[in-house]
Amino acid sequence: MAQINDNYLKLQAGYLFPEIGRRVRAYCEANPEADVIKMGIGDVTQPLVPAIVKAMHDGVDEMATADTFRGYGPEQGYDFLRDAIAKNDFQDRGIDISADEIFVSDGSKCDSGNILDIFGSNNKIAVLDPVYPVYVDTNVMAGHTGEADDNGRYGGLVYMPVTAESNFEPEFPTEKVDLIYLCYPNNPTGVVATREILTKWVAYAKENGSIILYDAAYEAFISDDSVPRSIYEIEGARDCAIEFRSFSKTAGFTGVRCALTIIPKTLMGKTSDGKDQSVHALWNRRHCTKFNGVSFPVQRAAAAVYSDEGKQQIKDQIAFYMNNAKLLREGLVEAGFTIYGGVHAPYVWLQTPAGVSSWDFFDKLLSESHIVGTPGSGFGAAGEGYFRLSAFNSLENTQEAIKRIKKAFA
Ligand SMILES: *Cc1c(COP(=O)(O)O)cnc(C)c1O
Repeated sequence: MAQINDNYLKLQAGYLFPEIGRRVRAYCEANPEADVIKMGIGDVTQPLVPAIVKAMHDGVDEMATADTFRGYGPEQGYDFLRDAIAKNDFQDRGIDISADEIFVSDGSKCDSGNILDIFGSNNKIAVLDPVYPVYVDTNVMAGHTGEADDNGRYGGLVYMPVTAESNFEPEFPTEKVDLIYLCYPNNPTGVVATREILTKWVAYAKENGSIILYDAAYEAFISDDSVPRSIYEIEGARDCAIEFRSFSKTAGFTGVRCALTIIPKTLMGKTSDGKDQSVHALWNRRHCTKFNGVSFPVQRAAAAVYSDEGKQQIKDQIAFYMNNAKLLREGLVEAGFTIYGGVHAPYVWLQTPAGVSSWDFFDKLLSESHIVGTPGSGFGAAGEGYFRLSAFNSLENTQEAIKRIKKAFA
């Protein structure tokens, strides 16, 4: 008898985005004339910039000629891309990361789930609440949790609430944890971690022998040099952190697929008999066995992110989204909302009006203003009473959404 992985049956059925999709479809079928503005799912809307498109075309041309054709490439990524990443994202900023510590992949979502392959099953795992659901669900699938309770919190996981009451600074776990998921700039709250906070996390990890899984998917949206863009800006992080980065939000690659994971060679985990083991070596083995590299034209396109034209064009694209975020923040404040985030991230996290739950606010915003956002409670119990709006949209839609929100709430 072929048995399935029972852990999958613990997963909560009404997953957030399908449920949003269901409610939006139902509303649109009942109200076909409604002009619905979608500010829910975190996906980019602007096309690829010209420097990237040209590089991708050139990559295809190279594949079309016998002289320059390439078959399987290095599983970890081509040197031209790893070198460009190491230089531009790290070394030029004074951060000690070398090209052979970078693993190019087809996405941070996959990497942040796949990373569990190389860790044991008895680790204590801590996540922020609200949280990017991938970190939690992949741990459920791997059998690292018990069943979910009424709030959707799984037994065995350590949840670190992040709310306005604590100024969006998570409280350090009172029990010792082994793997800590952090995401900054944060999805969904849009807030960032200061150098001081990250320094405390690195100190905690070093003291407890923990490893930080740092998701920096939105680092390109940071506009202030005092806010760290990489965990490796913090002294000592090479010995206690893995970082995930992606071209998805940085350069509009959500439909192209290219990301990277950084594992310093100095990062050690423990074997079950207490010996030090290089995490880099394990991930290299895992990556080479289960992955065959990102397509060549896509890696050419990703490398163009670091060309002079590419850098400028991407900077302009991010400035475009961040102008939407600024307008959203200003409009929401004028409409009387208390808001967070949206300064170094494309998400604004608003507090729902007193006594209105996240899902009630979702239904109200959809029916009265024809705007789709994301209920905070869908990201975790501590997200109840909050709501996420995304700046990934056209300027026209953003302006129209603000007009409607002001009309309904101001
Ligand atoms: C969008 C996003 C990513 C990027 O995932 P990809 O698979 O690289 O597209 C990673 N982490 C978070 C929190 C995100 O919101």
